[in-house]
Amino acid sequence: MMMKSTQEEAVRFDQQDILSKYRNEFYLIPNQIYLDGNSLGLCSIRAEKTFLETFESWKRDQIDGWSSGEYPWFYLAEMLGAKMAPLVGAKKEEVIATGTTTVNLHQLIATFYHPEGKRTKIIANDLDFPSDIYAIKSQLQLHGLDPEEHFLSVKSRQGRYIDEEDIIACMQDDVTLMILPTVLYRSGQLLDIERLTREAHQRGILIGLDACHSVGAVPHHFHQWGVDFAVWCSYKYLNSGPGSVAAIYVHEKHFGTVPGLAGWFGSDKERQFDMSHVFEPSRQAGAYQLSAPSILNAAPLIGSLSMFEEIGMGSIREKSLSLTRYMMLLIEEELQGWGFVIGNPTEDHRRGGHISLEHEEATRICKALKEANVIPDFRAPNVIRLAPIALYTSYQDVWEAVQRLKSIMVEGKHKVYSHERGVIA
Ligand SMILES: *Cc1c(COP(=O)(O)O)cnc(C)c1O
Repeated sequence: MMMKSTQEEAVRFDQQDILSKYRNEFYLIPNQIYLDGNSLGLCSIRAEKTFLETFESWKRDQIDGWSSGEYPWFYLAEMLGAKMAPLVGAKKEEVIATGTTTVNLHQLIATFYHPEGKRTKIIANDLDFPSDIYAIKSQLQLHGLDPEEHFLSVKSRQGRYIDEEDIIACMQDDVTLMILPTVLYRSGQLLDIERLTREAHQRGILIGLDACHSVGAVPHHFHQWGVDFAVWCSYKYLNSGPGSVAAIYVHEKHFGTVPGLAGWFGSDKERQFDMSHVFEPSRQAGAYQLSAPSILNAAPLIGSLSMFEEIGMGSIREKSLSLTRYMMLLIEEELQGWGFVIGNPTEDHRRGGHISLEHEEATRICKALKEANVIPDFRAPNVIRLAPIALYTSYQDVWEAVQRLKSIMVEGKHKVYSHERGVIA
């Protein structure tokens, strides 16, 4: 008979973990197990430090903060772009820290969607994050096109995953653009972006990505794969604070493409203060900025990214996969017979950074987990998302979380809660 996992083993895994020391850099709450870093990453001492330093520099440097000090604000978006570039496998000038995810997506659709003749359609998918769908449909409407006719949503076969074959089958000659997630936010499926990019380009279709659920957890090679453009946020796996600055990647082959939405911060930086009424956009990803960057909003990212710079995405991905693999093993060992289904891909190369645990009582179980000081999140209709984070979740946390979940089921503690979900679920 196979030996079941033991707590001693979890202790040993933590002792062997080369990233374990980073845990001390985060604001964790004693006895709490935080598994919601794929929704809001935790605050670190480094993020706090660069935030406070930037705040001080506003007091001290006043207007000169734009051009002097440790991180001159005028160049901060480019500097943060360069620091994020290795996370997605881009050249430094292909990434800019700016705006917010949905606004950035609007910008890039406005820039790269050019319906012509019968090539008018945009591909998305049935399991997409809703904001992306809203953005795509409203962009179609701005072109005077009916979304019913020009929006193609790839169906899921079983409600969890999107089959790459089904996406490719949709790539007909009436399609011009495709917007896809790297990792699906509910099931955690990681799409084969390299293959999809190749297939799209063979058919003259552009590919844009929403990488909110992968950047900081999964390494990418956007430049090498030839991905046309991408957006992501920094408040999930990048631990930069609620609503913090997002990012844009545009492949260098598109440099010089005139922004669909123009704003003065998209100007060539040498010319911006000429204050000309003729827009001269930057020849890099910076062209797709609109406004003065939200400096206080971007400041935590400076400190947070320094950890990613130190460690590199290879080790982060390795630990992330090891944590989710371990969690799946414990779920199988401890929760058999309690009605749970693992709804994320179990193969490493198809899995993002979180576990998607399905249960028909998911809403109530999430409430009981919170009461037991385990922080999950709930996604309708039946998913408990559990994200062990490479930088701050220990193997003992994973062990303990599954034990607490088991005791909820054994004791029926979830049954006292209603089925209603909270406003923010
Ligand atoms: C979190 C998330 C967003 C968030 O969009 P905002 O504009 O930052 O609110 C968008 N897309 C996906 C896939 C996400 O996971």
